[in-house]
Amino acid sequence: MKFERSKQLFEEAKKYLVGGVNSPVRAFKSVGGEPIFIKKGKGSRIWDEDNNEYIDYVLSWGPLILGHANEQIVNAIKQISNFGTSFGAPTELEIEMAKAVVDAVKSVEMVRFVSSGTEATMSAIRLARGYTKRKKIIKFDGCYHGHGDSLLVSAGSGVATLGIPGTPGIPEELASLTIVLPYNNIDAVKEAFEKYGEDIACVIIEPVAGNMGVVAPSKEYHQELREITKKYGALLIWDEVMTGFRLAYGGAQELYGIEPDITTFGKVIGGGLPVGAYGGKREIMEYVAPVGPVYQAGTLSGNPLAMAAGLKQLQILKEKNPYPSLDEKGKILEDGINSLIQKYDIKARVNRVGSMITLFFTDKDVVDFETAKSSDTELFGRFFRKMLQLGVYLPPSQFEAAFLSDAHSKEDINETLNKIEEAFRYLKK
Ligand code: PMP
Repeated sequence: MKFERSKQLFEEAKKYLVGGVNSPVRAFKSVGGEPIFIKKGKGSRIWDEDNNEYIDYVLSWGPLILGHANEQIVNAIKQISNFGTSFGAPTELEIEMAKAVVDAVKSVEMVRFVSSGTEATMSAIRLARGYTKRKKIIKFDGCYHGHGDSLLVSAGSGVATLGIPGTPGIPEELASLTIVLPYNNIDAVKEAFEKYGEDIACVIIEPVAGNMGVVAPSKEYHQELREITKKYGALLIWDEVMTGFRLAYGGAQELYGIEPDITTFGKVIGGGLPVGAYGGKREIMEYVAPVGPVYQAGTLSGNPLAMAAGLKQLQILKEKNPYPSLDEKGKILEDGINSLIQKYDIKARVNRVGSMITLFFTDKDVVDFETAKSSDTELFGRFFRKMLQLGVYLPPSQFEAAFLSDAHSKEDINETLNKIEEAFRYLKK
């Protein structure tokens, strides 16, 4: 494979864009090599500017659960854009989209749309603080909730990938209000509540973590978290930006049978356009302006193109119910990788929930950020670069989830497994 044009574009990009990119992990810093510039996508495949073809497991970091350039979604965007691109005024589409979310997610009675996952979680935290009149929040080590000041403490995703301490530019006074606890450890939560219970506004969690790679807690853990937050009058925020409408139509909360107080969404609900949302019980949501005192606004919030793309994607998901098939394909991939790990005696672990999967290069079971960090990131980098050469585009970091879409066929999975075998052979040389 040749990457000449991508190389040229990267040189050019670095002159005008910080690091040549608009989001850090895209720069391939932790995996070595240089990013490929994408020209187009269709279904499970993408093509770069040198016309190399890849099976794509990034899917724009999760939104494209139906694959690239889904015809119905593209048509919905085309149609709506004939009537204008933005009004900054109410539209009927927003009601339809809100109804779709409320119908799908049991704990959500009202919703507010924003333009990114970051905005959704930032606003959810502000709402929780406004509602409870408390200041402290609990987040978990290795969970990433976007780059809002209170949440960029001990974060996963790009922060973990680049080994950034997490808080430059964020005042200590604010960071000190964020209590960071190990993921998947209920005793740590109990201790924190015993100490600071009356001051804790909320606990925010990725119900299935994707931003330290995939890590899934037990049902009991989530049940205890629900009970303890209720006991102390703190709100439980489930950040379903990644898991919402991906692990099930009703999100991770459908899988675990838990009702958080506030839920945040992003990615899948935008169908590939910029959308985020936060929602919950009416009583809490009505603390948001214009009904309540907690201010939050957005020029492009509820943008018609984004609403049309998201609504179409949700309609297709509801009608088609691709979740059992996504899980089946995920299992084939997981089982296939596990037998290759055995066959080639690779120190690795596979974590998967539905269509989210991570191959960690460690011989420890990965249950939290500590164990995720035991991975050999240098080895991951070699694996990643080899897979890229072989035509498989994986997330360019050990601490991310790879995603499957409805457009990925069993043939795609088998082809991927053959390439993983080739890559493992190469690693063993
Ligand atoms: N929360 C979670 C769980 C996420 O995975 C992400 C993005 N990866 C965000 C929040 C932030 O979303 P955005 O990148 O749209 O701001």
